[in-house]
Amino acid sequence: MKILVVEDEVQLADALSEILKRNMYSVDTVYDGIDGLDNALTGVYDGIILDIMLPHMSGIEILKNLRKEKINTPVLLLTARSEVEDKINGLDCGADDYLTKPFVTGELLARVRALTRRRGEVIDDNKMSFNGLELNKSKCSIIYNGNDIKLSLKEYQIMELLIANPKQILPKERIIEKIWGYESNAEYNNIEVYISFLRKKISVISAPVQIKTARGIGYSLE
Ligand code: CA
Repeated sequence: MKILVVEDEVQLADALSEILKRNMYSVDTVYDGIDGLDNALTGVYDGIILDIMLPHMSGIEILKNLRKEKINTPVLLLTARSEVEDKINGLDCGADDYLTKPFVTGELLARVRALTRRRGEVIDDNKMSFNGLELNKSKCSIIYNGNDIKLSLKEYQIMELLIANPKQILPKERIIEKIWGYESNAEYNNIEVYISFLRKKISVISAPVQIKTARGIGYSLE
């Protein structure tokens, strides 16, 4: 899951990013409205945490622009207690939810989970599965028939993306975008290395699941 954080209070923005990363999300953080809009318009995010009062362009303006461009990424607005008008305005403009500052970590994570409900087969917030293979977030592992093997963070993120889009070819570019980000230097063979680790781990626990290569395009979970 890839989240964009747009918040001009640097300490808060960095704290948010840290909390999300510790909970297996990949996160891009920007500190003003223009960068916020630029990033959000790419449409690659699974959710956006958007502050309302931002330099150069308000969160509400960003939201209006996104919805006008038919980008429906779920948005969680961050509001100060005094910004009731903005909150209502934000929901009217297509925000999915809001969170009033200050907030506690547990509430933030619950809101983000609700925001990014996956399309794959979800057992509960901590687990997704495909053909009996379970991806367990709290253990950062895959499990089949009681056998369990740990994944690295990147392996986990790739597996999550595959399970959320089963039986579909995921282009390598999309995997890079989602997991490493646009400005990363991740090379295509990095992905191949992670995919080969994942294949080994899937075979170690004998799960009836395969990551197939679509030559020259990407991968699919079958
Ligand atoms: Ca602000």
